Amino acid sequence: MTESRLKTAAHTPPGTERGAVDGAAGERLRRDPVAQRVRRVPASGIRRFFDIINTMQDVISLGVGEPDFVTPQHIRQAGIRSLEEGHTAYTSNFGMLELRRRIAAHLEQRYGVAYDPTTEVLVTAGVSEALDLAVRATIDPGDEVIIPEPSYVSYAPCVIFAGGEPVMVPTSAADGFAVTARQIAAACTPRTKAILLGYPNNPTGAAVPRHELAAIVRLAGEHDLLIYSDEIYARLVYDGWEHTCVASLPGARERTILLNGCSKCYAMTGWRIGYACAPAPILEAMMKVHQYGLLCAPTMAQYAAIEAFDHGEPDVQAMLAEYARRRRMFIDGLNRIGLTCHVPQGAFYAFPSIRITGMSSDAFAERLLYEEKVAVVPGSAFGPSGEGHVRMCYATAYEQLEEALRRLERFVQAHRQA
Ligand code: PLP
Repeated sequence: MTESRLKTAAHTPPGTERGAVDGAAGERLRRDPVAQRVRRVPASGIRRFFDIINTMQDVISLGVGEPDFVTPQHIRQAGIRSLEEGHTAYTSNFGMLELRRRIAAHLEQRYGVAYDPTTEVLVTAGVSEALDLAVRATIDPGDEVIIPEPSYVSYAPCVIFAGGEPVMVPTSAADGFAVTARQIAAACTPRTKAILLGYPNNPTGAAVPRHELAAIVRLAGEHDLLIYSDEIYARLVYDGWEHTCVASLPGARERTILLNGCSKCYAMTGWRIGYACAPAPILEAMMKVHQYGLLCAPTMAQYAAIEAFDHGEPDVQAMLAEYARRRRMFIDGLNRIGLTCHVPQGAFYAFPSIRITGMSSDAFAERLLYEEKVAVVPGSAFGPSGEGHVRMCYATAYEQLEEALRRLERFVQAHRQA
């Protein structure tokens, strides 16, 4: 924004003299200090449970959606080394070029999609920030964003905070929670600006087959829509499932903002490294928001991320193998005790049905916590279509998962409806 376009105190519209004291303004602040679009968004349904868990002992937590592994030693060392060498200043707003080069090379090598690291890659403070930037840089007030549901808790709030309107498209266990192009088409209106995809999905673990994603991309082309694609679980897929990077599909690259990061695959949640890739004009707009809001992602963490891209692949494979082992045992166990669960293709979540108990997902989660000390997240936290399910994260030690299953079995037997 240029100086001349900024409103200054000297530019006073007629009838609103500056400097005049308005007594009612003080009253208004006391009554109503929070912006409407922030008030509209309820607090995360997950947080309440963690407040309760923090007051209890011996709880098995299947609640938090993050790896139970510590960041691999050599990646931690790279962060520490960067501090010892005195790399404590800001980096380029885009992020270190060495890191952007690694990101571009990774995407080209793995998915065959090419981005220019100098103009089309932005390093962010996690996918969380990348998504916020993507939406804020592209959404005008009233624009609609289609979001398949159940969905990750931040998607709809991000759109609302940006002044847009989330339009939720329910998916169900019967379809493996995989959205279809037909469902999205039915939700399109002239106000639709974008589709927000998050596959493999949190909370369901579902992935969408390549041909269906290709149909969604074609639909986006027909309606001239943007696609935000959150692929944070891209590396965590099982049983030979091949992740499809949406931007690699024909016709997708020019309308897709690809979001990914280091949190899940390298067990680096606390380092806060994500990235966004998009055509230069879109990325430049995101960069503007990022530059004024954050300046750059943490420098030490960027050094650690370079090490992760260079030498972290064996760690990804080892963690993936362990998640796969737990997933098999845990999903089988849930189905055996009557908590029917579709087999998730990716991420590290089970999203079983709790219908057998006749409880709401909120009641189930609360009673399970108090009666058996197992923490899960009610499906309703991920939107109304998550009701009837709970989310259980199996990024938890194998023995803990076995114990959780024993407690769950006892709970289900006690509350099973005839
Ligand atoms: N997107 C999804 C689908 C997630 O599950 C999460 C974290 O749970 C995030 C984004 C946030 O990731 P980050 O740590 O990169 O901000």
